[in-house]
This record gives sequence, structure tokens and C-alpha cells, in this order.
Amino acid sequence: LTPDPAKGAAVKAADRAHVFHSWSAQGLIDPLAVAGAEGSYFWDYEGNRYLDFTSGLVFTNIGYQHPKVVRAIQEQAATMTTFAPAFAVEARSEAARLIASRTPGDLDKIFFTNGGAEAIENAVRMARLHTGRHKVLAAYRSYHGGTNTAINLTGDPRRWASDNGTSGAVHFWAPFLYRSVFYASTEEEECARALQHLQDTIAFEGPASIAAIVLETVPGTAGIMTPPPGYLKGVREICDRHGIVFVLDEVMAGFGRTGKWFAAEHYDVVPDLMTFAKGVNSGYVPLGGVAISGEIAETFDQRAFPGGLTYSGHPLACAAAVATLTVMEEEQVVENAAHIGATVIEPGLRNLAERHPSIGDVRGTGMFWALELVKNRETREPLVPYNATGAAAAPMAAFGAACRKRGLWPFINMNRTHVVPPCNVTEAEAKEGLAALDEALTVADEHTA
Ligand code: PLP
Repeated sequence: LTPDPAKGAAVKAADRAHVFHSWSAQGLIDPLAVAGAEGSYFWDYEGNRYLDFTSGLVFTNIGYQHPKVVRAIQEQAATMTTFAPAFAVEARSEAARLIASRTPGDLDKIFFTNGGAEAIENAVRMARLHTGRHKVLAAYRSYHGGTNTAINLTGDPRRWASDNGTSGAVHFWAPFLYRSVFYASTEEEECARALQHLQDTIAFEGPASIAAIVLETVPGTAGIMTPPPGYLKGVREICDRHGIVFVLDEVMAGFGRTGKWFAAEHYDVVPDLMTFAKGVNSGYVPLGGVAISGEIAETFDQRAFPGGLTYSGHPLACAAAVATLTVMEEEQVVENAAHIGATVIEPGLRNLAERHPSIGDVRGTGMFWALELVKNRETREPLVPYNATGAAAAPMAAFGAACRKRGLWPFINMNRTHVVPPCNVTEAEAKEGLAALDEALTVADEHTA
């Protein structure tokens, strides 16, 4: 933690000269130079320490630098740093076995990728080949990744620039009572109307043209909208009726984030394909994948699967997964996410909502929460307009700066802040973050009317 501003300045200068950053206007960003990280915290070269309520990009489910996972990566590097995907390799076999032991139903075969977008690409490829159909239905208010198929399935503004109309993606509205497009006033109404809307969409698109429905079990970046009871089961039934492959994207919601190993467990639903990444090894080494049902795996028993990656099931990434899943079991990380979520985060956020007029909605589960910030609670007008940038987004930027000033690194997307600390966050850390949020929200309150 010894400050070293000169080193920080050099790191920053090389970054600004040569690193081209994701999703950004390169001239408008000011990335923080990070000196180190441990557990739920990271620090800069100036000596400022931050409590990370973002888990990176919602991936450090066991925090930074867990010694057992670091050691497992070191040991794997010492014995077999890499090996080509066509061979049976201990770290890969064991990672697949452990993941399959946790995935719901008969999702027992694992195709490894380097991250979430590639998992979506390959899940859609499997669904198309399995059904012989092309179209894929996905929800507005969703994020599925930055590659061509994944970004076209995405239901947020990041799709717009890459959407040339040829991807086969068709969007529909999933349930979201707080901003219901169905004029619903209860979860039951929202659920029933969202299912009817999906059935109507399928009827008018042509059921026999649809390969898959892809949904985040709990949409993450788009706002952490836990689906109403019965919705995902309803989607499962619709898929079965029409021979459509049901893909659940658990890249963000999986591996403990919602207080269960997989979010699908909350809804007692088993998809045909499930994508994962991020928390599978706490993001220590890039890894993602698709968990595949028996029926879809069978399609590729005697027929080659036309997809692959040089680093599919990379031993370093797989060793990190084995160690992470072992640590999660030993240290009851999933139970901790459920427990701290229910006993500290949820009551804490509801208490903040009682005192801060800028909080329009509190929603989530486990270690997966969103605060929707609004100008006016009655009208629910967002604190900043949808997709606002620059001056229009200033109130959220001011809120973010207020958090950071108090040692809290917040996750901010449009008019929301997401409370997504590591799943092994302690009670004291959770309370520290809530106290910082409490102070920072007074800044957001100034923009309410
Ligand atoms: N799917 C979901 C639900 C995600 O949240 C993300 C990333 O945030 C992705 C897919 C894409 O994953 P990656 O960035 O590893 O390609």
C-alpha cells in the first residue's frame, strides 16, 4: 500500500498512449492506475483504497488474490502451463466434472470458451444445428456479449452500432414490473402478460423458424430484474411446445451471485443450454463455457460440432476454476452470498430507500442488487435519461464521484447503481459500503424534484 505516484503516472501514461479501451470514446476517459488488490479491496498508486462494490465486472466472486486459487494457478503453471484442446488434461477434466456436478438437470457436458460472448456464440450455434432453424429470440434490457451474435442478441444500446439486420435476432419484452410495458400492476399480471407477449411474438415470427430463446436468468447489466415466479417455467413450456432450444445465460448470475450456485435453481427450471464465465474462476484467468443437455450433446455424437477455440479449456484457466469451486465449497461462499444478502444488504438498501428520495426501486437477491435512481418517485422518471452521456449523465457521475470520495467503488449503469460485491464479502465490509452509499446518495437526492 506504499504510495508511488511516479510509478502510477508512468502506468497511466503508457495506458493513455497505447491501450485502446472497451466501449469508450478514447479521448474522454481517465482510467485509474491500480497498484494492487486483495479480497474486497483495491488501491491506487496515490495510497487511496477502495471497497469494490463491482467485483470487477461482476466476476471476482471470491474477491481478489485468494491465496488458494493463486497457488493453484502457480502450481498448474509449474507443471503444465498449456496444452491443446484435443487432449484429455487433468485440470480440464476436473473443471468440467466439478462444473457439471453443480449445473442443474442433465447439463453434464461442458464446452469451454475464453469468456461469456464466445459461450453465447457457441450455444446459439448448437441450437441452430440442433433445430435446423435460424432465428433467435432475446429480451430487450439484456446483455450477452460483444461478439457478433452476442451483441445482436443484446437488448441495450451497445447493439445499435453492430446491428445490420442479418443476425437473425428478434427482441421481445421480458417481465419488469417497475417499468412494465404491459400496464401491469402486480407480479402475477406482469408474468401472465409477458408470457402472452412471448407467445404472440413466436406466433407472428413463425414457431418453426425459431432455433432458440436466450434469456439471462436474472438480467444483470440491464438492471437486475429478478423474474416473477412462474415466468421462466412458462418460457420452458413454450420452448417445449415449439421445439425451441431454451438457453439461459448465467455468465453474470451464475456461481453464487444470486445466493445459489446457479440462478436457475431459484426458479426450479432447467434450460437446454446454459452459458457461464466470470465467477467460474472468479475471473482470475479468462474462462467461459456452455453446459449442454444430454439431448443436444447427442446431436453431436456422430456428427462433428463445427466450432472450436485454440484455448478451449486452457489448463491455467481450468486449474483456477477447480480451485475456485473448491474454495467456494470449503468456505461456503454461496451460503455467505445468500446470508449477507438477506441479513445485511437487502435490509440496508431498504433502509436507504426510506431516507433517500432518489431511490425509486430496490431489487435483487443474494449478492446481486440494483438501486434505481429517479428524479421523482411518483412519475419514476429516471435520474438521467436512457442512454444519457456527457452533461445529461452528470447527476450519476456526481453520485459516482461521491462514492469514490468515500472509498467505495460503485457499479453505475445509466440511472442505476448495482450493489454487487464479492460473494464472500464480510458483514463489516457490506456495512462499510452501505454507509458510503448513504452519504453519496445525498448527492443524488439533490437532483430530485
Ligand atoms: N452474458 C452476460 C449475462 C454478461 O453479463 C456478459 C458480460 O458482462 C456476457 C454475456 C459477455 O461475457 P464476456 O464479456 O466474458 O464475453
